[in-house]
Amino acid sequence: MSAKIVDGRIKNIKQVKSPYYNDRPINQPISLLVIHNISLPPKQYGGPYVEQLFTGKLDPNEHPYFAEIYQLQVSSHLFIRRDGEIIQFVPFDKRAWHAGKSVFEGKENCNDFSIGIEMEGCDSDDFTQAQYQQLANVTTLLKQNYPIKNITGHSDIAPGRKTDPGPHFNWHYYQKLVNQQTQINAIINQLNSIKYELQHLNLWQPSPPAPEAFLSEQPFALDTMQPHEWLQWIFIPRMQALIDAKSEIPKFALHPYFEEAFKEVQEIEVNKLLTLIKQLDELATNQSIVE
Ligand SMILES: [Zn+2]
Repeated sequence: MSAKIVDGRIKNIKQVKSPYYNDRPINQPISLLVIHNISLPPKQYGGPYVEQLFTGKLDPNEHPYFAEIYQLQVSSHLFIRRDGEIIQFVPFDKRAWHAGKSVFEGKENCNDFSIGIEMEGCDSDDFTQAQYQQLANVTTLLKQNYPIKNITGHSDIAPGRKTDPGPHFNWHYYQKLVNQQTQINAIINQLNSIKYELQHLNLWQPSPPAPEAFLSEQPFALDTMQPHEWLQWIFIPRMQALIDAKSEIPKFALHPYFEEAFKEVQEIEVNKLLTLIKQLDELATNQSIVE
């Protein structure tokens, strides 16, 4: 997700202000993500009623169930609809009222130190692919911005009282998506670091090699390009295309070739570049533990 958080709010998503929040206690870092499910009326999707509940505007006459709950003062930071739309109600640096009486690893009042995410759903339906993808995206974004250490379900911090996100929430799949997203972000950062290092070494070229050079059938185009040219004109664009297409990143090992290729080089300091390439190899290889 190329989204950004400014003043506790995700830019460019729908913002609906809830009155149901207050300040977090001081010295309580945001360390926990709590996943919930909600649908209003229960098991019905797409209506305006969750937004109305979280903003104190639910009409008790519209549905018998609403009459039971319309006076509740509840909110969450985020609500992810079935189609993947994300709505934010409370800035992350404020305390939303989503967890109620709760305890995580001995610490009570999870609202103090958590971010609450409501998935539009119920305990008896699968969640949608779009929801998992968006949940993984915001999880990665939140982890970049806050010291989140754990992710849990409402039922885990309020057992006996709450059952959401329920047995249909696929924790394994969610974790896998988060790991993939985290890995992709790390690879993007690493590619940028390699680009900056090539620029720093004056090896980043303003214009590409001759078209014939791209026709090489050798690994690393080693008969037609310099190692750094291959990085700039073949490898980095190819990786970028895979990432843009959301294709799987293959495992690769560039470091042995570059270490060999740079052996004779005396006039430039390639150690940092080699280290960056080695780290990139490791990032691509580590995806095996994602499964
Ligand atoms: Zn809940």
